[in-house]
Amino acid sequence: MRTEHATVRSQRFPTLRVRGAVRNLAIVLGDQLDPHAAALTGLDASTDAVLMMEVAGESTHVPSHKQRTTLFLAAMRHFAIELQRRGFRVQYVPLDDPANTHSLRGEIRRAAKTLKPAALRCTRPGEWRVQRAVDAAAAATGLPLHTLPDRHFLVSDMEFAGWMAERKQPVMEHFYRWQRRRLGILVEPNGAPAGGQWNYDRQNRGSFRRAPQVPQPYAPRTDAITHEVLALVERRFARNPGHLARFRWPVTRVQARQALDDFIRNRLPHFGTYQDAMWSGQPFLYHSLLSPALNLKLLDPRACIAAACAAYESAAAPLNCVEGFVRQIIGWREFIHGIYWHAGPGYEARNELDQHGSLPEFYWTGQTDMVCLRECIGQVLQYGYGHHIQRLMVTGNFALLAGVAPRQISDWYLGMYVDAVDWVTLPNTLGMAMHADGGVVGTKPYVASGRYIARMSNYCATCRFDPAQRTGSAACPFTMFYWDFLIRNRRRFRGNRRMRMIMRHVDRLADDERGTVIAQARERRREFGIQCPAAPS
Ligand code: FAD
Ligand code: SF4
Repeated sequence: MRTEHATVRSQRFPTLRVRGAVRNLAIVLGDQLDPHAAALTGLDASTDAVLMMEVAGESTHVPSHKQRTTLFLAAMRHFAIELQRRGFRVQYVPLDDPANTHSLRGEIRRAAKTLKPAALRCTRPGEWRVQRAVDAAAAATGLPLHTLPDRHFLVSDMEFAGWMAERKQPVMEHFYRWQRRRLGILVEPNGAPAGGQWNYDRQNRGSFRRAPQVPQPYAPRTDAITHEVLALVERRFARNPGHLARFRWPVTRVQARQALDDFIRNRLPHFGTYQDAMWSGQPFLYHSLLSPALNLKLLDPRACIAAACAAYESAAAPLNCVEGFVRQIIGWREFIHGIYWHAGPGYEARNELDQHGSLPEFYWTGQTDMVCLRECIGQVLQYGYGHHIQRLMVTGNFALLAGVAPRQISDWYLGMYVDAVDWVTLPNTLGMAMHADGGVVGTKPYVASGRYIARMSNYCATCRFDPAQRTGSAACPFTMFYWDFLIRNRRRFRGNRRMRMIMRHVDRLADDERGTVIAQARERRREFGIQCPAAPS
């Protein structure tokens, strides 16, 4: 561990160019930083080569947080050096190469022209758009392209399709139990779940009464290569959102492993219990912060599971916390990945609730008097990070309730979080947060009033709004929009078994109360600059 860190710290990023003939050219994208990936397996160092490209188009097709761009470029540069050390020949196109065309398509064509390979190969990209770009570039070169499966995930497309074929509705809990059984994770020899339960959700909804004392999470030292990238991004993407001062993400596989070990040792023992809690000024709490390393493939999900289960077996972490973490990795993460590829490229256009509002300006600045949104957006600007409940029940919940168009908010998530890659961002945003897929990811919309936020955080204590009020000048906008949402979508959700109780409540409201909520919500939307009101039901 120490060796790599020490070597890289003193080194700037070198020019990496391939000389001589090339037979196979393996394209490695920014979220494919695994030396054991399919595209790299079996390459012959003497005749084959690797192509890596930094293209501005990937940081601008949605406005990308400066830390997100920094993370990708710094990790790519470290990985290129690692590949070279492993004996690979690497053609690396840096962002400031004067000949850089700044599109994947342009760079693949340019490399094909210079290196004249006989064939191209690539591990399946993490996004339909990128897959199309690589396919189009290959077609333009006239070279054969071999797209190989992404072995990072525990479930293949075929296995997921098989699981889906047996179901009318894909329910994550069923998928998760199927995974536990087939992978033998936290399962007794007789097939029963460890501890007698498949989930410990009831124990995992804790909140804090006072500010928690959480150990500072591991943050790697910034070496010369990352410093170079930080300066480059600040210069090149000065107008992009987000701040760079607190960049803290692992950019090598060694650092990613250290981040995992730090989580297992210091935060896993409380992870499950407080996984839904929020607290002002505490962006990380007991969360793992591993999604950026996992999604760039610096870290293998199998290593995460093995480390968490070992902590359980040695009694270093309780079962509710270990199970909670295992569920996120082999359950949610794999389920979301399966849904993305199963749903196909048309998924991104879905807007089942017919919402067309624009994203309020404060999503880019954090300047709002709603404390919860100020805190959650503020930390995204500082770190490119928010934990799950902040994404789902604060920034996502608000967008859904206020009537924002799904594509506007999903582009915001895609650009603003350091761990964002389309396969994971899109189903989480469009499906889970916005219910825009009509119930593929979640059987009911994840909506809640300000009371939920008051229960799970201390945000409301210093807010000028009152989470218990749905109308009037002090009414919490979440609470007001929550009732407005239910009223507007009354017919649509009346038949939903999981919403029956709350819909009865809506039915019991007097007509003039419903009218007041709708009128005041419309006015509030206007104040927030949500220009196009949500379509009436
Ligand atoms: P922890 O809370 O420590 O969880 C452990 C790991 O479980 C995470 O690192 C992640 O790999 C995995 N995980 C947990 N929930 C999910 C999930 N729903 N989908 C996929 N993986 C999950 N996750 C991303 O990795 N990238 C995204 O772009 C992304 N966008 C999201 C957008 C919305 C609207 C929502 C509601 C969720 C999104 N998520 C996304 C899922 C989840 O919020 C993040 O994975 C998690 O907050 C990352 O922080 P962490 O590593 O500290 O996670
Ligand atoms: Fe957010 Fe409403 Fe609480 Fe204010 S009162 S912090 S707006 S939930």
